[in-house]
Amino acid sequence: VDLLGTLRGILGAGDLLTGEACAPFESDHRRLYQGRALAVALPRSVDEVARLLAACNAARVGVVPHGGNTGYCGGATPDESGTQLVLSLARLNRVRSVDPENYSLIAEAGCVLAQVQRVAEAAERHFPLSLGSEGSCQIGGNLSTNAGGVHVLRYGMMRDLVLGLEVVLADGRVLPGLTALRKDNTGYDIRGLFLGAEGTLGVITAASLKLFPAIQSTATALAAVADPGAAVTLLARLRAASGDSVSSFELIPRIGIELTAAHIPGVSDPLTAPHPWYALCELASSRLGEPLDALLTEALGAAYEAGLVRDAVVARSGRERAALWKIRESIPEAQRHEGAGLKHDISVPVSALPQFVERGAAWVAAHVPAARLIAYGHVGDGNLHFNLQGRGADGPALLKRAEEVRRALHDLAAGLGGSFSAEHGIGRLKVAELERYAPATELALMHAVKRALDPNGIMNPGKVLRRS
Ligand SMILES: Cc1cc2nc3c(=O)[nH]c(=O)nc-3n(C[C@H](O)[C@H](O)[C@H](O)COP(=O)(O)OP(=O)(O)OC[C@H]3O[C@@H](n4cnc5c(N)ncnc54)[C@H](O)[C@@H]3O)c2cc1C
Repeated sequence: VDLLGTLRGILGAGDLLTGEACAPFESDHRRLYQGRALAVALPRSVDEVARLLAACNAARVGVVPHGGNTGYCGGATPDESGTQLVLSLARLNRVRSVDPENYSLIAEAGCVLAQVQRVAEAAERHFPLSLGSEGSCQIGGNLSTNAGGVHVLRYGMMRDLVLGLEVVLADGRVLPGLTALRKDNTGYDIRGLFLGAEGTLGVITAASLKLFPAIQSTATALAAVADPGAAVTLLARLRAASGDSVSSFELIPRIGIELTAAHIPGVSDPLTAPHPWYALCELASSRLGEPLDALLTEALGAAYEAGLVRDAVVARSGRERAALWKIRESIPEAQRHEGAGLKHDISVPVSALPQFVERGAAWVAAHVPAARLIAYGHVGDGNLHFNLQGRGADGPALLKRAEEVRRALHDLAAGLGGSFSAEHGIGRLKVAELERYAPATELALMHAVKRALDPNGIMNPGKVLRRS
């Protein structure tokens, strides 16, 4: 059977790319993998996705769902064989409906996250998922990686923002489930299986998502602290003092300020003296005119008096707020300017985070003294990007020690009840880590679910689970 001919018949020639045209879909954002695709399909309807999958299932051809390609684990990249079909959701990108009174909307998988945020805003509502990649990542990718970001502390991860899903199964059957219900106890949570499954169980084509009241007031500050322990204590104080209106709480090390100021135009240290650590704090409220600035200033003042905060700056305008956020959001880019490095996406209970940083930093200093540690991120969620940065010629030497460093840091996280993958998923990159750290019973259940939903193993083969 001529599969490409069949696919062309389903899609129309313009929506099936072959040869050179596939290039943008054949490598991942971090350039860890370079694959080769049989072809790239760009369906425009759920029916087309269903017919595509039925044809690939019959032909036993692997299908790699592809969203905005901003994932960090190589999940959306085909392997090197040239036999897998990349299925891009980019043209399935309509917001189908908005229901402000039900605080929900229905978006197709190919909608870019920022587009959904804007639609919610136009309806005087708030869709809270927010990531550095929000201008290009897609709702389908966010659902499939169970994305986190900077508002998890207040609203939870993508899994917590979903009411219903529409999914096309590996054999082409459509699982309808775009319910807008907040209460629905009718059997197993089948739809939940697809959240965080990274395209290995089916293709998500649309989702019913939760909305929240529009944000009317915010206050943002950068507070200097002595160590991560002080940051964790400060977070608890701010939550109590603000009626739990903390919406973001991000940790930034001194080196984060230095590297962004060195490499990113427009970034400078907003405080007069250097400090070892900083917390970027934001309060947000749906009440218009809520005096959050005064509240934050007062809470930080009290923390200063108590010796917890060493210095702080509260943003007085939208521009100053953007400048503080730019420091945080530019750290990955600043790291790229510094050359090769090792990245880890760990989480531990918030209370154990100071211990993780202390022990992790001591291990790095003792075993990889040439590397500079850049530990930053979502401290309010117990999630840190615990990265080691080489310098010039040291970079390649550092990469050679990736396995040893990964083992030490992931073992440390596991020992503190933590995870080796807090928000970036498994993809192709962390398959062996999942095998190592997941309880055997859980891994066996994952394989059983995979076999039940995708008996021919066509859905994103080799991602999350090793091919069986
Ligand atoms: C600058 C930057 C900042 C980031 N910050 C964060 C952050 O704060 N928090 C965070 O969690 N992540 C972050 N990320 C990682 C990334 O943006 C997220 O993982 C995002 O959710 C991926 O979405 P995507 O559309 O790009 O998915 P892709 O990379 O295209 O795909 C990711 C996985 O989902 C699968 N997939 C995609 N669409 C579908 C679908 N419709 N059905 C089934 N499977 C599908 C793919 O096969 C792949 O396995 C960041 C990335 C960058 C570049």
